[in-house]
Amino acid sequence: MSEPRDATVVSTANGTDWKADLRERGYRLTPQRQLVLEAVDTLEHATPDSILTEVRKTASSVNISTVYRTLELLEELGLVSHAHLGHGAPTYHLADRHHHMHLVCRDCGSVIEADVSVAGPFVDLLKDRFGFETDMRHFALFGRCVRCPETDRRTPPAPGASHPH
Ligand SMILES: [Zn+2]
Ligand SMILES: [Zn+2]
Ligand SMILES: [Zn+2]
Repeated sequence: MSEPRDATVVSTANGTDWKADLRERGYRLTPQRQLVLEAVDTLEHATPDSILTEVRKTASSVNISTVYRTLELLEELGLVSHAHLGHGAPTYHLADRHHHMHLVCRDCGSVIEADVSVAGPFVDLLKDRFGFETDMRHFALFGRCVRCPETDRRTPPAPGASHPH
């Protein structure tokens, strides 16, 4: 049983609406859970490890399994959602800020957030052809960003080789 706390007393610096949302639903987070939620809010595309580092600035006794459990709970409550930007751990968003897909550059690792509407025709096509509802937010698309020129490869093409693909 967790002691009820007033969610309103904590910093309102970011002006996010999850606090109001929780209040409306009559739900109160323990201080520790609130720290995890605030870390997700602050960090953006936060991995559990980076969330742990952030939370430990305030609560040094928190460990990684607490962070995982808390993220799971917050996801069940609909407050956070996750996306996969690569092979490692997922990254977390505040759920109401996650309406984009991720374009990840293979060369420099930068992440472009693109509104899901950009993929509208593709999503419609998959729906028409396969009756499939596609969630474009969950996994990233990989490619090369505009700042990484094609010639700037780790393995330069052999002399005389045709244009690599
Ligand atoms: Zn994102
Ligand atoms: Zn997932
Ligand atoms: Zn790049």
